[in-house]
Amino acid sequence: MILLLGIPVAKAIKDECKLKIIDFQSKYHRLPQLAVILVGDNPSSQSYVKGKRKACDYVGIQHKDIFLEKDTTEGQLLDIIENLNKDEKVDGILVQLPLPPQISEKKVNEAIVPEKDVDGFNPVNVGSLLLGRKALSPCTPRGILKMLDYYGITTEGKNVCIVGRSNLVGKPMASMLIQKDRNATVTICHSHTKNLKDYTLKADILIIAVGKPSMFKKEMLKQNAVVIDVGITMVNDSSSKKGYVWKGDVDFEDVKEKCFAITPVPKGVGPMTIAVLMQNTLDAALNREERK
Ligand code: NAP
Repeated sequence: MILLLGIPVAKAIKDECKLKIIDFQSKYHRLPQLAVILVGDNPSSQSYVKGKRKACDYVGIQHKDIFLEKDTTEGQLLDIIENLNKDEKVDGILVQLPLPPQISEKKVNEAIVPEKDVDGFNPVNVGSLLLGRKALSPCTPRGILKMLDYYGITTEGKNVCIVGRSNLVGKPMASMLIQKDRNATVTICHSHTKNLKDYTLKADILIIAVGKPSMFKKEMLKQNAVVIDVGITMVNDSSSKKGYVWKGDVDFEDVKEKCFAITPVPKGVGPMTIAVLMQNTLDAALNREERK
């Protein structure tokens, strides 16, 4: 069984970005800039923002962190986004999710101009991705493809089953895999899929993004399948020093002998997301300079 660790892949992506940013600076006499907005004081979101800041410092991207009170109105947030859209120095804008209930995620995604939408959530980028056109695309699925490439796992002609149809993971993952540069045969499953096992058992590559710890057992997997476990959930565990552990959607111990390769949780898909965010910010900066 091959353990698909994300850390070396993420490091390779960030190191490549670092070198390209040196070239970018000497050519355009500035650094790419990422604006990250956090509304409220959700501890997980604060830790994600911290992780993004650390990655920016590593690769040489300037970051502008904007912290807003949890009772910020939708109008106030949209005004801030509008100013960032117009700010010549800003290349990428990211609004940390989840948002408080008074703010519509849909309106926020639509407010960020497509050329600065480093999360790839604006409908223009979503449509371009589906049509196979150049687009900024969501970080987690793009990271999964980079991981497969790094470990030499091809998708050409393979049956890929994606479990989960979120806008964040499942749908963009499918959009990427059906393109002619990937040529996978894709099945998407969700909570209304009847007899899930009928689909997962046919998968050469199984990508699971559900958020239900250890739900996938070996009887749901084809022998020698590649398993990409996107799910990550904090589970109470009194035997751990911290009192909790992170669990994926796959029961790792149960399936590990049956897989050809599998991502662990943590340290699998997780590190890819921030690394690809760095890549997307650099791509956005390069696209903007090329358009000038
Ligand atoms: P989400 O928006 O909650 O979507 C979950 C999906 O799973 C939905 O499509 C849902 O179906 C489906 N589902 C729920 N129960 C199911 C079942 N019993 N059988 C089959 N499908 C089922 O979640 P998400 O944002 O995609 O995230 C999923 C997981 O990935 C979470 O644990 C999240 O933390 C993790 N994640 C990790 C990263 C990373 O960087 N590592 C990034 C993003 C997400 P319906 O559509 O029918 O409700």
